[in-house]
Amino acid sequence: MKVDLHCHSLMSDGVLTPAQVAARAHDNGVGLWALTDHDELAGLKEARETARALGMQYVTGVEISVTWAGHTVHIVGLNLNEHDKALNAGLADIRGGRAIRARKMADRLASLGIPDSYEGALPFAGNPDLISRTHFARFLVEQGYCKTMQDVFNKYLADGKPGYVPVHWSTLEQAVGWITGAGGRAVIAHPGRYLYTPMQFDALFEQFKDLGGEGIEVVTGSHTPDQYSEYARVAKRFGFLASAGSDFHSPKEGKLDLGGIPPLPAGLTPVWHDWL
Ligand code: AMP
Ligand code: MN
Ligand code: MN
Ligand code: MN
Repeated sequence: MKVDLHCHSLMSDGVLTPAQVAARAHDNGVGLWALTDHDELAGLKEARETARALGMQYVTGVEISVTWAGHTVHIVGLNLNEHDKALNAGLADIRGGRAIRARKMADRLASLGIPDSYEGALPFAGNPDLISRTHFARFLVEQGYCKTMQDVFNKYLADGKPGYVPVHWSTLEQAVGWITGAGGRAVIAHPGRYLYTPMQFDALFEQFKDLGGEGIEVVTGSHTPDQYSEYARVAKRFGFLASAGSDFHSPKEGKLDLGGIPPLPAGLTPVWHDWL
């Protein structure tokens, strides 16, 4: 059975409605699915109802923005109670910082010769509470400043580039605490994307485990096949459950479509092992 436990709708920085994402996952043969919008649970009711109507197994999901050792880490929460108070309050707090950060990002871009990007990015945000770098990137591509989203991040918006605004998201402790407090399972998203030293990676994995984190994404649209093997070894070394997700945002962006991920490498315990 195909599993996809990481993707986005227009409630964060995807382009399809939760129902459209569910239908596309189902069309692509996904049998177990989670919608994991950034810092936002508003799409989950529609996701669950559509998945149920299609006969697709569904678990609740979210992708929480965390700042750890000065860089952003994403923690996916799965199979949690979406009505949990502390979780909802924590995510509302994170979302609150996004509008201010977006204004600052627009100021930086203006100083780099790209005026009015806040106003330009806003129509791309399906959820005005959740304006993200992705929406700015779509605007810059639309306006012809860059050819691809990847070019925008490489030139302007990736961590440390001239349009990047440093931001303090939640702490690792908060994010894992909200997820486990809501009865869910915390998973480190796309570890291959983080620019930490080997020592920092080990410290991240150890701290995450000490806090009650259980899983790590091994197969994701952000990893190369070599990284599937690398993070399979990490999962075994730290005793993590293994997760898999496309990180689908849009039919026109990204490497992988919904359900387009290969199976987990052998010898791992899937994060969904006791959910089916
Ligand atoms: P934000 O939460 O506003 O910091 O935006 C982060 C989002 O930007 C991620 O979830 C990705 O969707 C997107 N993103 C980050 N880095 C890249 C990249 N190098 N190429 C394309 N999209 C990226
Ligand atoms: Mn995203
Ligand atoms: Mn992510
Ligand atoms: Mn994601």
